[in-house]
Parts: sequence; C-alpha cells; structure tokens
Amino acid sequence: MKIICIGRNYVKHIEELNSDRPDEPVIFLKPDSSILRKNRPFFIPDFSNDLHHEVELVLKIDRLGKNISQKFAHRYYSSIGLGIDFTARDLQNKLKDKGLPWEKSKAFDFSAAISNDFIPLEELNTNNIRFRLDINGETRQTGESSHMIFPFDELIEHISKFFTLKTGDLIYTGTPAGVGPVKINDRLEGFIEDRKMFDFFIK
Ligand code: MG
Repeated sequence: MKIICIGRNYVKHIEELNSDRPDEPVIFLKPDSSILRKNRPFFIPDFSNDLHHEVELVLKIDRLGKNISQKFAHRYYSSIGLGIDFTARDLQNKLKDKGLPWEKSKAFDFSAAISNDFIPLEELNTNNIRFRLDINGETRQTGESSHMIFPFDELIEHISKFFTLKTGDLIYTGTPAGVGPVKINDRLEGFIEDRKMFDFFIK
C-alpha cells in the first residue's frame, strides 16, 4: 500500500505558513514504513527540533482505479479515518529553501499516525465533516471538510491521473490551520465529529 498526502488544501493553513495557494493539488508520498498504528506512542526523531502535528481526514481506497473522473470518484472509497501527518518543520523549511524534495521531513518512519477505525461515509454528513485535534485536553486544530480547496472527489481525479489507486491505499487530505510543535509527554486525541479516533502520547 501507499500513502498519498495532500499539502496546502486549507486556505487558513496556507496563510499560517506563508505558502502560495495552489492551482492544482500539491501531492507527496509516504512509504508504508511511515505508518503509526494502534495508538502507539510517537517518538520525536533526533533530526528535528520543531516536530509539528498536522491533523487530517484520511480516505481509505477500496477499489483499484486509474484515471478516475470526479463523477465516479465516490465509488473508490467508503470510509474515512483520522491521522496525523507528522512534519519536521525545521528540516522541511531547509529543504524547501533549497528547492529540494521534502520527503526526509515528511515521510520518515512513523510520520503517518492513523486511527484504528474508519467511519463508514453513510454515518457522516459528507457535505461537511468536522474534525479536531486536542493536545493535553486543549483543542489545537479544528477542521471542516467543506473548507478544503480541493474536495475528496477532485483529489481522487487528480491523484489517479498520475498514480494507480489500489485497495488499502490511504489519502491524507490536508491539514487545517493550527499546526504547531509537539513535545515529550503530550497527549494527542483526535476526533471526527464527537467520535474519538485516536489517543496516544509523544515520547
Ligand atoms: Mg499535511
């Protein structure tokens, strides 16, 4: 399986990082070795002093597809989970400044936390799915899927022009505003609507 991540998909997050608003989805990949499951702790890697959380809705692909049109995109996923796209922001900024690929700062081991459960879409109002990240009991990020620049079906269309989608692939759909550093012993709890999706510690 592969993990496809979308950058710059929420206007307020673009503003907080002083990035440019993209005219097509910004895509990068993480390898399967980046997955962090089962509420296991996340260990801050020694190559970063500014390790950021980015909470994101995650689509799970359940059908093989290539060149999928927006109109049919909904047939390729049926549930949604919640994840964290952990980012070594200091390293990412260095790489971006040099015009280099940013994988080392984004795709390292255990950088893709994912919820155990995925919620069937029929249990959600798919026009606007609300989600949030609490750290030590305080809400740090809140998002609504209706604020995405590129909604799910547009993402599927664009991604599948370049990458064949396979059953089990995950798509991290971008983070809303409020990203920031994590520190040792922080407790991260993620929610879709009122349902708790993950609960783990930073070590
Ligand atoms: Mg992200």
